[in-house]
Amino acid sequence: MDKKLTGKVQTVLGLIDGKELGLTLPHEHLLLDLTVRFKLADESVTAKAMAEKPMTLDMAGWIRFHLFENRDNLVLNDEALTIKEITRFKLVGGKSVVDVTNWGIGQDPHAMTRIARATGLNIIMGTGYYTMDSGCAGVLARKSEDEICQDIIKDVTVGTDGICAGIIGEIGADSWPLHEIEIKSLRASVKAQKATGAALTIHPGRFDESPLQIVDIVKKAGADMSRVVIEHIDRTAYSFDTMVKIAKAGCYLEFDCFSMEGYYPKRYGIFDIPNDAQRVNYIIRLMELGYLNQILVATDTAMKSRLTVYGGPGYAHIPENVIPWMRAKGMSEEVIRTITEENPRRMLTFVAPSK
Ligand SMILES: [Zn+2]
Repeated sequence: MDKKLTGKVQTVLGLIDGKELGLTLPHEHLLLDLTVRFKLADESVTAKAMAEKPMTLDMAGWIRFHLFENRDNLVLNDEALTIKEITRFKLVGGKSVVDVTNWGIGQDPHAMTRIARATGLNIIMGTGYYTMDSGCAGVLARKSEDEICQDIIKDVTVGTDGICAGIIGEIGADSWPLHEIEIKSLRASVKAQKATGAALTIHPGRFDESPLQIVDIVKKAGADMSRVVIEHIDRTAYSFDTMVKIAKAGCYLEFDCFSMEGYYPKRYGIFDIPNDAQRVNYIIRLMELGYLNQILVATDTAMKSRLTVYGGPGYAHIPENVIPWMRAKGMSEEVIRTITEENPRRMLTFVAPSK
């Protein structure tokens, strides 16, 4: 590979030094189409009416408990609104945002450059295939592991009209038991990680065993485990024991559901999602065991209802609310900076390809 990525961070506007990243959100969605997750609550007239209603502020209370039951909630496609919403993050000190919207949920390279120019934020774009139920199943079934790997390498090194991805993921691996198609996608992503030196971020299933199985698969495929991110820890690892096992494997543990409170995803048969205070408590416990350098925090904003204009906390939630709570719970400025700046910088900085 002749592109000189080693030691740099790749934004949609080109390569920068990691020192320029500053306060970083490592897992967000600026624009996306997540309607693959839409599910009608039941066959009632009311459920059907609510399903197709365009999102409005007066739906804020209802939508909080019915996130996936309104189609419009699952689409972020208003670029001007995104610019307004993400600017709030910048106004409270934010510098960089990772948009992990990849193939299957609407990766939009040109829009990312416009948002980067309009806001002055560093935007790092994801690549690779999202979950097989996002419409990727056909293409993933048809392509060989090597072809999938080449698709990803090309998006990191050549890109779309020169707009290149700076991170591999979020790679969809949420089938359970893990489907062979998603295993293939994972293994191809590991190969692309080795060939490019990029970080690899993975969207796991909603069972304690899922992240552990993923860790096992990517490890066997030869991944650099210190550059693997297991996402959605707060809705994936239901026991602290599982979190420790993931940490022991050397991966980043990404608590990226901050501000998802009152979230009871009964469609997945799951109710025990921690609130923000409990998320911070888990982080403190992991720090006490020596895993500070493996913690990432974000809000994974992927729905209209998470935006301020629809009554949500918006993209600035980490600096506006979470960091003050971290301070209140006794975390030092240095520790907070490690989690919100140093860890994302290390994770996003390309290392030398291993082959
Ligand atoms: Zn995800």
